[in-house]
Amino acid sequence: VLSVRDERKSYGDTEVLKGIDLDVHRGEVVAIIGPSGSGKTTLIRTLNAMESIDSGDVLFHGEPVGYVRGADGGIKPAPDRALAKTRARVGMVFQQFNLFPHKTVRENVTFAPDYLRPADRAAHAAEADLLLAKVGMEAHADKYPHQLSGGQQQRVAIARALAMDPEVLLFDEPTSALDPELVDEVLRVMTDLAAEGLTMVVVTHEMRFAREVADWVVFMDQGRIVEEGPAAEVFDAPEQDRTRKFLSRVR
Ligand code: ATP
Repeated sequence: VLSVRDERKSYGDTEVLKGIDLDVHRGEVVAIIGPSGSGKTTLIRTLNAMESIDSGDVLFHGEPVGYVRGADGGIKPAPDRALAKTRARVGMVFQQFNLFPHKTVRENVTFAPDYLRPADRAAHAAEADLLLAKVGMEAHADKYPHQLSGGQQQRVAIARALAMDPEVLLFDEPTSALDPELVDEVLRVMTDLAAEGLTMVVVTHEMRFAREVADWVVFMDQGRIVEEGPAAEVFDAPEQDRTRKFLSRVR
């Protein structure tokens, strides 16, 4: 579904992605792990064009994500309409939830569908209630984000992302901003989505989740993919020293 080829990206003089190759297949859960600053967040943000790339390719069903390539091989931003279309197909759940603070839970979920198809508002509200039930938040539909715990807000953010019926859902450290006792309720929702066959890419520090739920684990360090493979192989029989060292520190 997604393929990344020799992707490079710098901030000023610092190259943070140094030639990334990655494939995400339909129905797969890919976990990206690695030390702080290794480029995980930058990589996942390029998968739906929230971050631009300098060279290489990020392809969704073979089409460039958020850019067009000129005759000289240079990269230019895609027109807004193409960008919006990609973001509707490849959704994102953020570390900091990013809910609209002045909208209710239900309004957060219906906002984007209502904007795109205003005629279907009633259907969107009904759909939102189903999605909120799916993430265990149906009792809170008329509340505002500030009335909810972080774990509840993140579950609403997941429902909001699902409202666009995305083909792929990206999660950028979805539990890192949560108090420890709230992490499990969010991981449980993500585990259910994985079991339903949703294609997911998850940047995470939750090694238990990566081991138990991910089909494929990618270990990044210093802007490169150092090692990748089925979860059992990466966790139980890492081939690279750097992977072993990282895992021994986080476990
Ligand atoms: P963490 O787990 O701490 O979130 P990460 O692996 O997700 O780390 P990135 O956030 O992708 O790493 O950052 C990679 C590098 O790029 C870091 O050195 C960071 O300081 C730098 N960086 C990230 N965003 C920017 C930016 N907008 N401008 C300049 N440098 C940036």
